[in-house]
Amino acid sequence: VPSPIGHALGALACGWLAAPPPDSRPRLFVQAAILAAVGVAPDLDILVDRHRAESHSLAAALIVAAVAAWRRWPVADTRWRIGCAVFLAWASHPLLDAFGHDAKPPLGTMAFWPVSSEYYKFPWTVFAAITRRWHGPQFLVYNGLAVLRECLILVPVTAAVAWWRGLRRS
Ligand SMILES: [Zn+2]
Repeated sequence: VPSPIGHALGALACGWLAAPPPDSRPRLFVQAAILAAVGVAPDLDILVDRHRAESHSLAAALIVAAVAAWRRWPVADTRWRIGCAVFLAWASHPLLDAFGHDAKPPLGTMAFWPVSSEYYKFPWTVFAAITRRWHGPQFLVYNGLAVLRECLILVPVTAAVAWWRGLRRS
């Protein structure tokens, strides 16, 4: 599964589809920081040892989007756009994970919880697994290459969305 860097990039690309990057720099930084954080947040489930389960579902994305729209998180001007952007940013996480590999089964994500507790994964592996065994000798090299691979794939995608959605200043 991708690293936090890959997830942040994916969340920006998806979130900007609904809420374009604002013109003002300070507002852009706040918006991008929120969308990136939303994209990384599902992996906090590692802390409670429920990795890739309920937090990695479309239902979780809906709940967070509803809270964001209700509390008017500063990612867009209207509640509708706020909700859509946060939903897409959160949903980008299980989407990317479904293209990734992980060492620990069950592989995939519980995307359709609570309707189904099955784990879903695409048959194609695009992203390498990130190892959390930080004391292993290969940790830096292995994860460095995995992050490089994510960036090579996701930076062009995110940049293309940003350009298309109006972030064209020099
Ligand atoms: Zn994840």
